[in-house]
Amino acid sequence: MKILVPVKRVVDYNVKVRVKADGSGIETAGVKMSMNPFDEIAIEEAIRLKEKGAATEIIAVSLGVPQCAETIRTALAMGADRGILVETDAELQPLAVAKLLKAVADKEQPGLIILGKQAIDDDMSATGPMLAALLGWPQGTFASKIAITKGEAGSGDGITVTREVDGGLETVALTMPAIVTTDLRLNEPRYASLPNIMKARKKPIDTMKPADLGIDPAPRLKVLKVVEPPKRKAGQKVASVAELVAKLRTEAKVI
Ligand code: AMP
Repeated sequence: MKILVPVKRVVDYNVKVRVKADGSGIETAGVKMSMNPFDEIAIEEAIRLKEKGAATEIIAVSLGVPQCAETIRTALAMGADRGILVETDAELQPLAVAKLLKAVADKEQPGLIILGKQAIDDDMSATGPMLAALLGWPQGTFASKIAITKGEAGSGDGITVTREVDGGLETVALTMPAIVTTDLRLNEPRYASLPNIMKARKKPIDTMKPADLGIDPAPRLKVLKVVEPPKRKAGQKVASVAELVAKLRTEAKVI
């Protein structure tokens, strides 16, 4: 079974995000970029399935500017087998990403696609479910545990996905091919070792354009404005508990 893992290049989670002066978006020039943390978890899970013998090949796919190749290289250094870069300078929104990923899935015919539950840049949390809808495949979102189940004679393999929901844990059984999106508790991703970083340089990355897949990635949503959150007011020091209680009574407001 092939596993496809879409990996997004996002602003590194340690970087303080700044809004562009004209309010058109966030500043990415000169900013450290990394693989979306939920996608590292997706790659790790795919590698574990391969190590258990449940998968034969892991393909990391990234969509966007040419530098997304670096994100794919990180996935290859962790243990993915090959990469696909769909190169475009266009702003990519989840529907366009889902359409492009569907075209890649139609070509590659994976048994499983593992995505992050959300990208930490715009928190859309939309691509996995949209892709499941476009492909007509079952989906297990926000997975905190997954297990492959062997099908009875004549029926295909399946996968059980344990998902974190408000009231506790829900386990769903899916038939494959299927879509899974990862939650934080699914695993702790490995670091790439130096020998594996060297080996990753020789692994192939196939590069194509959206037009090669017959997809027009033009945005459907228009971003009107991006603003910074309001600044927090400075705190106040009080001299005694009595003063604190008095302030809480007279000044504190429920926001
Ligand atoms: P989102 O719906 O934008 O929150 O993204 C959810 C997941 O979709 C991410 O964790 C990735 O697995 C995948 N994804 C979104 N955008 C891209 C992209 N440009 N390239 C590769 N994967 C992506």
